[in-house]
Amino acid sequence: MKTLHGIPVAPGIAQSVAFVLDQARERIARHDVAIAARDEEIQSLDRAIDAARASLEADRAQVEADLGPEPAKIFDVHLHLLQDASLVEPIRERIRTEGVTAAFAASEAFHGLAARFKTMGSPVFRDKARDILDLERRILDQLLGRTRERLAQVVEPVVLLAHELTPADAASLSREQVLGIVLEAGGRTDHASIVASAIGIPIVVGCGDVLGEVSDGDQIIVDGTGGTVVLLPDDETVRRYQRRKKGLDRFRESAAVVGETRTADGTHIDLLGNIEFVRELKGLLEVGADGVGLYRTEFTYLTSVEEPSEDDLYESYSTALQMLGDRPLTLRTLDLGADKYTQALSLEPERNPFLGLRSIRYSLQNLPMFRRQLRAILRASTCGNLRVMFPLVTTVGEFRQAKMLLNDVADELRDEGHEVAENIPVGMMVEVPSAAIMASTFARVADFFSIGTNDLIQYTVAVDRGNERVATLYTAASPAVLRLVKTVVRASQRRNVPVSICGECAGDMTYTMLLLGLGLRSLSLVPAQIPRVRELIRRVTIEQCERLARRIGSLDSERTILKVLRDELIRVLPEIDGELDDE
Ligand code: PEP
Ligand code: MG
Repeated sequence: MKTLHGIPVAPGIAQSVAFVLDQARERIARHDVAIAARDEEIQSLDRAIDAARASLEADRAQVEADLGPEPAKIFDVHLHLLQDASLVEPIRERIRTEGVTAAFAASEAFHGLAARFKTMGSPVFRDKARDILDLERRILDQLLGRTRERLAQVVEPVVLLAHELTPADAASLSREQVLGIVLEAGGRTDHASIVASAIGIPIVVGCGDVLGEVSDGDQIIVDGTGGTVVLLPDDETVRRYQRRKKGLDRFRESAAVVGETRTADGTHIDLLGNIEFVRELKGLLEVGADGVGLYRTEFTYLTSVEEPSEDDLYESYSTALQMLGDRPLTLRTLDLGADKYTQALSLEPERNPFLGLRSIRYSLQNLPMFRRQLRAILRASTCGNLRVMFPLVTTVGEFRQAKMLLNDVADELRDEGHEVAENIPVGMMVEVPSAAIMASTFARVADFFSIGTNDLIQYTVAVDRGNERVATLYTAASPAVLRLVKTVVRASQRRNVPVSICGECAGDMTYTMLLLGLGLRSLSLVPAQIPRVRELIRRVTIEQCERLARRIGSLDSERTILKVLRDELIRVLPEIDGELDDE
């Protein structure tokens, strides 16, 4: 038996036999093509490109029918690349002048481009590299007469293991046949992960070298909640996971009851959702969220080939507002920079990107682009209950400048005859220590706060949120971080400014009672976590939470804080005992 740890992407436990999708890269040998045959070779390249385009369009249509229009947009990047003369023309040129085969020239060109994207580091570019290799495979399939037989061989329930999956492969999987997925590479926000979780298959990614350790037919357990993969589990482990699965199923059943979220002593808690794309709203409404507490609008930019137009953005924002009806949509303006690069931005690397030109700073230095987004937001403002939020505000001056710009854009639109809602609440993320410490000052200018612990932790304890080597130091159980959260909540209570929390810890049940005990009455979290957090809230009283918060306030070690929080959680929810073992 061997236990591996990866990144949990889609929750659930699956146990079945392994099916290894071997994607070892095939090296295409260099062969010469006689001068007389080169035109024909170029024509076969063009036919392969046409066929690849047709297969992409078919996959796009399939994904659109199964999962909706937003995931289908993943294929637009592929289709756009195929039209890119700067990629395709040099391939033709090599065949023409060097006399290499179409397969060789295409493979070299696509791999060269993918390698350039891979070295850029950011997850968005790793996704692009994968898209490019997917395209290469499609073209080579055509040129070499191959088929994607291996995946088609999956006929009985399996756990699929692969180095990585293209979004197209992920989209072609069926939930009945693929019970779980384990990938060596990848991250939580990769396209393949997004598609697999949309289908609802438990998936763990970023597991490192695992393919060499598994053969087809081996027993395997995937825990998509805890991020654990167990190869050849012994009987005791199988029984443990079966118990855990039963407990989780029971808990899921009770958590599935949608309705108002009240503590056992009757206090209403707002449970809002964090979203990156409008397509997530359907799921968010199904779990009975009270609205959207964080709409990360930059993701539309990150997944588009070009800057989205004002009209495209207006379309998304107005659709989102209409879908939500009276429920609030807290739309965070562009949070680009740091680890979220667009192609244009990446051309100017910074030595300390997390301390550099990111978020509201980036927007204020790229006014034409920012104004286009603000125009789209304000044009949509009459379609529902809109709240606008600025990211990474560090000084009062910055907030004022952003708000003035928003007002200026509103005047411009009204002059043009557009209708713009009056009195739109304008708030800010509190995600740097300077904003948290000065919260009572910010409360004079901001209409609401949303505490972003993901960044607040890294800036408070000086730990890069994405660096595995210091990951153990990165925790919301830091007494310093918790004190800052308390400072912000107190300031907002004193000044009567609504406060919510939207960092990942808001969706982690370990912290739910503590957050309520610190005075928070609004949490914004990944929609899929809402039922669990709601069920937990229903079982606790505010007094119990306040007692826990007082106890935590007297502790000085992250480890002890975490242990006390976990023990308390298991006491309240014995069904999930064991789920936290692996963290
Ligand atoms: C945060 O920093 O806590 C946050 C919610 O924003 P993001 O994760 O997008 O940086
Ligand atoms: Mg942030």
